[in-house]
Amino acid sequence: AKKIGVLTSGGDAPGMNAAVRAVCRAGLAKGMEVVGILRGYNGLLNGEVIEMNARTVSGIIQRGGTCLYTARCPEFRDIEGVKKGRDKCLEMGLDGIVVIGGDGSFRGAADLSAQGIPCIGLPGTIDNDISCTEYTIGYDTAMNTAMEMIDKIRDTAQSHDRCSVVEVMGRNAGHIAINVAAAVGAEAVITPEKPYDLNAIAQKMEQTKKSGKTHFIIVVAEGVGKTEYITRTLQDITGVESRATILGHVQRGGSPTVRDRVVATEMGYHAVELLEQGIGNRVVGMKDNKIYDVDIQEALSMKKPFEEELYKILNETAF
Ligand code: ADP
Repeated sequence: AKKIGVLTSGGDAPGMNAAVRAVCRAGLAKGMEVVGILRGYNGLLNGEVIEMNARTVSGIIQRGGTCLYTARCPEFRDIEGVKKGRDKCLEMGLDGIVVIGGDGSFRGAADLSAQGIPCIGLPGTIDNDISCTEYTIGYDTAMNTAMEMIDKIRDTAQSHDRCSVVEVMGRNAGHIAINVAAAVGAEAVITPEKPYDLNAIAQKMEQTKKSGKTHFIIVVAEGVGKTEYITRTLQDITGVESRATILGHVQRGGSPTVRDRVVATEMGYHAVELLEQGIGNRVVGMKDNKIYDVDIQEALSMKKPFEEELYKILNETAF
């Protein structure tokens, strides 16, 4: 019988637990032994490993965070660290590992696969910034959280005739920003993918003010990195009292949405199917709304298109 491991690595995301559960249950259902590796690649190197049975993953599907903990592991960036990881796998009799994380974690998975231990990557990040997949586990929950927070911020912005500039997460990508901006009916969205003109935004605010608009929501992606400056500048130009809110880590927590739980379950199952066949060095992703898998090197070289159409719709309808 095969023995497989599962670990979470890099930043956490809601739905990682659902993915861990799916990997564990799929493995057990296929007659495999399953172990959980704690704190990313650190647990592999330090032997922080737990045997998993069906009950180990009971009651976690609805919980945010990751029950396996997550961490960065600088040692794994060097080939010596990867070789030590391979030796640990051989020692434990591991026939493969499912790595839930982002691009960095997939590089580690590729390196370990090259050393003869088949590894499968699952995209787990709220940022949806992994090119080989249309969807990453955690994205939907994070967007819903941000949307709910901004709805609340709008209440108070409205009461005080204010402009609220809200920074959402997304690392260097604007996926959360643009979708959340559309979902809350923001006046403008500022993302790293597009140049922006604060004078133009201010002008639009002044125009819409004339038509009776009293409060404004501007969504800024964290990758832009200038939320305080943008807020001050808009206030200076328009004279509308403006406040910056940085949503921060609240977006990384919380109970995963239906979508995140279901996608995590499907991807986790698919990963185990690959390991069952002895296949490694693949990332599981979503393409045309279907689960698929792709070579890790190929996955890392892909580029994700910006949501031009949504960006256009948002800007044309914001007035
Ligand atoms: P993410 O997986 O979310 O992109 P990181 O970039 O922090 O997050 O990567 C997580 C972990 O993956 C790192 O701490 C390290 O253990 C491993 N890793 C990152 N880059 C590499 C690399 N080039 N080679 C091998 N392992 C890597």
